[in-house]
Amino acid sequence: MRVHRIENSLFNSNTYIISCKQGDFLIDCGDVCKLEDNLNIKAVFITHPHFDHIYGLNELVKRFPDCVVYVHENGYEALYDERLNLSKYNESSFMFCYRNVVQVCGEKADMIFDGFKVEVIHTPGHHPGAVCYRIGDYLFSGDSYIPGIKTVANLPLSDKKEAMDSEILIKKLWTGNVVLCPGHGRME
Ligand SMILES: [Zn+2]
Repeated sequence: MRVHRIENSLFNSNTYIISCKQGDFLIDCGDVCKLEDNLNIKAVFITHPHFDHIYGLNELVKRFPDCVVYVHENGYEALYDERLNLSKYNESSFMFCYRNVVQVCGEKADMIFDGFKVEVIHTPGHHPGAVCYRIGDYLFSGDSYIPGIKTVANLPLSDKKEAMDSEILIKKLWTGNVVLCPGHGRME
């Protein structure tokens, strides 16, 4: 399994490309133009539905029509709502226009794709629909935990207490060989 980070033009958010024998997968979606031609994106896992992590979705699905979007149930609505995903308050509004979405429910879930295992851990606080994904030795934390940066918890749907609890949980998961892949900044 190979993990490659793309830094997007909008707010320097990260998209991660995970390539393995089962195909190519994304964590979040920004500048689709930066995705190489030889990729075959099967699914995209959204860490949370703020526009800087989802704004490429329409272009992505146009280019890979079979691609499935995974999002936590508490973040589903925001894909289709420019106020909830906060794009309305920025330069260009974003609303997802496809329906190929699978909602992930609850606190913890495992998804298996031909033996490729994706563990979903609900980490609310920054956003009620925020999750981390653990795949092999990689932990994708979105904006729930960015090393060295205080988790943003003053947005309309944020919750400070939950954000702190989630940060503690993520730090516990970030042990040994685990590579932390945050929503902004470098992998470490
Ligand atoms: Zn965010």
